[in-house]
Amino acid sequence: MSTIKLYDDQPYGKEFQAEVLSCDPVKKDGRDAFAVVLDQTLFFPEEGGQSPDTGKLGAADVFYVSIDKNQVITHYTDRALETGSRVKGVIDWPQRFSNMQNHTGEHILSGLIHKYYGYNNVGFHLSPDIVTMDMDGVISPEGLKKIEQEANRAVYENVEVICSYPEKEVLAALDYRSKIQIDGPVRLVEVKGYDLCACCAPHVARAGEIGLIKILKAENYKGGIRLTIASGSRALSAVQDVWDAAQETAKELSVKPEEIAPAVKKVQDDVFALKGRLADFQIQAVRRRAEEVPEGQKNAWFFEEELDTKAQRDFVNLLVEKCSGYAGVFVGSDEGGYKYIIGSSDQDSRIPNQVLRESFKARGGGKPEMVQGSVSAAKADILTALSRQ
Ligand SMILES: [Zn+2]
Repeated sequence: MSTIKLYDDQPYGKEFQAEVLSCDPVKKDGRDAFAVVLDQTLFFPEEGGQSPDTGKLGAADVFYVSIDKNQVITHYTDRALETGSRVKGVIDWPQRFSNMQNHTGEHILSGLIHKYYGYNNVGFHLSPDIVTMDMDGVISPEGLKKIEQEANRAVYENVEVICSYPEKEVLAALDYRSKIQIDGPVRLVEVKGYDLCACCAPHVARAGEIGLIKILKAENYKGGIRLTIASGSRALSAVQDVWDAAQETAKELSVKPEEIAPAVKKVQDDVFALKGRLADFQIQAVRRRAEEVPEGQKNAWFFEEELDTKAQRDFVNLLVEKCSGYAGVFVGSDEGGYKYIIGSSDQDSRIPNQVLRESFKARGGGKPEMVQGSVSAAKADILTALSRQ
């Protein structure tokens, strides 16, 4: 027998009384739990992309709620309830109200996108952490901004939100958004002047209760667009978080929050220029050090803490010209390991590379003229190993 859905016409109900029809021990998400069926409930189950209500049934915690195709709602609890007994149910109201704000916010956005672009909502996810909605078409950032502004106008206008089960004939004449073909009675949710959609979830009674609707992110998804959105207190929290971060960043950059983007661009340009200058200095420095190596020296092994790859390669090339054996430059530290390049004008550089591989499980390879790789070992041990070859 289907469970009476008290949340259908009492979306603001927080407590209820019900009879326990059955209570069976089950495993749920790897934990021992009880599956409780009541004659009626305020707990909205996981349905239509929305995560379920949580709360209490008597002394038991309700941590998950499901609905089956026969419209039987099952509450998963952490302790048993006596079959046949009356039990008091209390839902987690702040979480439920937030879901109502966010779900109604989604309807308004989907309705407006459908109106202006003709796109359909093809995916919806609402949980305590995130709300996403997928539309089967792409919208520009400017377009989204307009949709967001108009969605918030519905909030200022405080328009009515009406849930109903229209008669078949009435329904047939109505143009409403619907994701799936629904058997049995269809529940319509109308946001006056903004949207009409088939939906089973609890909604706020007036749009003003949503407070704020904010699109947080838009990304291309399966040929359409996925929007991450937030409404009500979640939207306010999101705006506060980003605003705090913007204030902090602006302070660091000594600019106004709205000037962050050009200021960051300038910092990036400065860093780029400094990196170029640093590279020039490094190349000059390795040139001087290579000059100090006596002509005709057999091998030359250098260990450097910091050197970019270009300077490292230049260094090896300069040393190769002077040395009759191998020239190797190791960059890094004993603790963090070294990146190495080894070259030679007339020897096979793969030989010292092989020594490093065998002695220290180094990873690297290359041609006889030059090899490169990385090794986790101490400088002294590396030098000992290389001197043995
Ligand atoms: Zn809905």
